[in-house]
Amino acid sequence: MNIGLVAHDSKKKLMQNFCIAYSSILAKHNLFATGTTGRLIEEVTSLKLHRFLPGHLGGTQQLGSQIEHNNIDLVIFLRDPLKQKSQEPDVNSIVKLCDAHNIPLATNLATAELLIKSLDRGDLEWREMYK
Ligand code: PGA
Repeated sequence: MNIGLVAHDSKKKLMQNFCIAYSSILAKHNLFATGTTGRLIEEVTSLKLHRFLPGHLGGTQQLGSQIEHNNIDLVIFLRDPLKQKSQEPDVNSIVKLCDAHNIPLATNLATAELLIKSLDRGDLEWREMYK
């Protein structure tokens, strides 16, 4: 499965810890991340990621384009609902695309953990039918 990973600045440490905790599951999949999020994940894990541009330079749109082309099966976008910086990409564009294309999306840690465990159980294999 192809997994998209993005974290707003205040959630990047959380994303690193999430990827450390679930690296054995994540390593079985293809990982795509916006630039800075991807670099920070690579710094603390041995995971290999495809890195898009940094979010504010178009990386979020690159991820969105992959969602539109049905190339992403699951998105984890750890957003900061309270302190989003003006230059940070708006999560709403990704939410809209995931809803339009029926892609599972987590925007907080609790849902991210549910989805990743669900993925590991094989609950998302229906996604293969769409490819
Ligand atoms: P980044 O993009 O991973 O490149 O930082 C996401 C963001 O800007 O929040």
